[in-house]
Amino acid sequence: MTPVNIVLIGPPGCGKGTQAVRLAERYTIPQISTGEILRAAVRAGTPLGQQVAATLASGSLVGDEMMTDLVRDRLAQPDVARGFVLDGFPRTVVQAQTLDEMIGPTTIVVLIDVPDAEIVRRMGTRRVCDACRLTQSVSDAFHPDSEPCPYCGGNLVRRPDDEPGTVKHRLATYATFAAPIIEHYRSRRTFRSIQGTRHADKVTAAITKHIETCLKHSAEK
Ligand code: AMP
Repeated sequence: MTPVNIVLIGPPGCGKGTQAVRLAERYTIPQISTGEILRAAVRAGTPLGQQVAATLASGSLVGDEMMTDLVRDRLAQPDVARGFVLDGFPRTVVQAQTLDEMIGPTTIVVLIDVPDAEIVRRMGTRRVCDACRLTQSVSDAFHPDSEPCPYCGGNLVRRPDDEPGTVKHRLATYATFAAPIIEHYRSRRTFRSIQGTRHADKVTAAITKHIETCLKHSAEK
């Protein structure tokens, strides 16, 4: 069976994580979030975590070599035999070229497009449970003392890099690197840009439709 290799790109807060979880479930493939791998390393205080902690806190990008080594190791694991959903990688053209070398150009690439103003709004209400790690959206009137995680009762906390100043820097970083990456993929039949401002279910439906078309094409070959 052809592996289902999916890459989600888009600005921070566009919904890559939410969609990646859904696609991973639908196609029974692992979700690989480079941001989550790095944050877990920081939490665990591993040598990798110590190396990247300051970069993550600032909202800048970790170096290409470190990221491509990390992804190469992850894609060598047996659980990716049926495919994978990559969320947060590639973020530079060097990373995109290296990914092509690793798995070939047949990867299904989806850009989830969301304007900056909407991203800033979403990041303002984004919280992560410090116990179950689920990312959630809270109301504007959210009060941390009286509103625990509805799933496990843990504390809902803001990711340090979701602080408004850091969000601005992350969006600026994205703006610098996004256009060349999109250019790298744009001419491919397997690339699709999807409007991410709609309800998450509609976004999932649009992404799934694109994936099914790509899979049908590759089966016909
Ligand atoms: P994310 O959860 O995808 O927003 O990633 C959080 C942070 O991890 C980013 O702001 C970067 O500092 C770092 N990071 C994640 N993926 C990459 C990548 N592919 N290249 C460089 N830095 C990354």
